Amino acid sequence: MPSDPWSRLRALWSEVDDLQRAAAVLEWDQLVNMPPGGAEARGEQLATLHRLAHERLTAPAMATALADAAQAPAAAPDPAWLRAAHRIHDREARVPADLVAERSRAGTAGYMAWARAREEGAFATFAPALARVLDLTRQYADAIGWTGERYNALLGLHEPGLDATLFRRLFGELRGALVPLVARIAARPPHAATPFRQPLPDAAQWAAGVDAVTAFGYDFTRGRQDRSIHPFSTAFGPGDCRITTRLQRDDFAVGFFATLHEAGHALYEQGIPASAARGPLGEPCSTGVHESQSRLWENCVGRSLPFWEWFLPRLRHLIPGAFDAYTPSDCYRAANVVSPTLIRVEADEVTYNLHVALRFELEQPLVSGDLAVADLPGAWNDGMQRLLGVRPASDLEGVLQDVHWSDGGFGYFPSYTLGNILAAQWLERAARDLGDIPALLGRGAFTPLLDWLRTHIHHRGGGPSPAELVQDLTGGPIDTGPYLRYLQTKYSELYGL
Ligand code: ZN
Repeated sequence: MPSDPWSRLRALWSEVDDLQRAAAVLEWDQLVNMPPGGAEARGEQLATLHRLAHERLTAPAMATALADAAQAPAAAPDPAWLRAAHRIHDREARVPADLVAERSRAGTAGYMAWARAREEGAFATFAPALARVLDLTRQYADAIGWTGERYNALLGLHEPGLDATLFRRLFGELRGALVPLVARIAARPPHAATPFRQPLPDAAQWAAGVDAVTAFGYDFTRGRQDRSIHPFSTAFGPGDCRITTRLQRDDFAVGFFATLHEAGHALYEQGIPASAARGPLGEPCSTGVHESQSRLWENCVGRSLPFWEWFLPRLRHLIPGAFDAYTPSDCYRAANVVSPTLIRVEADEVTYNLHVALRFELEQPLVSGDLAVADLPGAWNDGMQRLLGVRPASDLEGVLQDVHWSDGGFGYFPSYTLGNILAAQWLERAARDLGDIPALLGRGAFTPLLDWLRTHIHHRGGGPSPAELVQDLTGGPIDTGPYLRYLQTKYSELYGL
């Protein structure tokens, strides 16, 4: 082990990072390649790697190295490095190892109970496991520590420095604008997604997705695409950032937009500097900032009219005959059909945040104990009625649809909406430097936008908090204004409001 404090700290941190990335490789393999027979052994392997990483991160040697490095600030390569390391280390060190193990086991049991409840269509099958997970989640939040309310501890895992008070305001602003917008759109003649609803060969759909994300700048020498049941992205370092997709023969939009979304995540990871690898700055700065990249490429770019003006001729070439009858405008309308539905992952841009608002409204009282698990399905259905004007006929289309809470993922949902808000803030800011962004997209010139994101967001890695990043870039706070302007302008034009 090196003797100077900074080298020693970096060496110790690299080992923790290696263990975590190795676990991520096993998780990727589990979802992409592993035969069912591998499940049990894989669970053990992952538990071992996660335990080792936690032990090494919270070991006395790491605490000593952090303290020694803090005594030698002049030698620090980057003050943000130590700040980020302290934030992660201090949080994890407060959590007893037994609680980590207990949460992991309850999370696995919770996931299995959720899957069984979905098969049986019975929330009651899930309820006891969910109550157990909630109890351990509260203990975990208390171990980490919180100010204001317990939920803030969980939110802070995903969005360092942000709290429930801010999100209550953001969701309030979105609800106030979006509930009436959805109602106005619902009163207009509905659009159909006709161009995308035709049987298309798998290989051609795959090629179309690859063509678009390659043009965006996704580097296949530092990434690859595979198939999985639920699309996701993962990174083992800036030189290996992978995506997965899922193609549906009769609906081109399902696979294509998932590919754009996951590539947006991977472009972020590919843009984190190699010099930050294996350290705390090699992480993205928050879940919401990560999501801002995927939403920007999927929605603001991929569901725009200029994109379809550029892409449709290429699509006609890649899938001969299938799109000859359609114009870019047809594809643009098909990519942006708005309709209040029951399932979050199938929701359009306008209704999506209302689905997230519901989850945010429910998980706060669940965590505080003000909402009993037994009352959750009813509260869910009432909330859907209030926010979207639709009511699930069963818990399968209601409270049982998302996996997140089953293994304790409370405080995660708000990051989805933060990603939408931030994507619009980035685009308004980027337009000041790049000028007419739609004109660039219409020519398939994606490099200026990617370079802008690289310079201002990706290259900073895990250094700034989300609020600092927004302040540095826009000179102001996190703001729903640009996002609401974007939605109002786009959908007023699309639906003739
Ligand atoms: Zn995402």
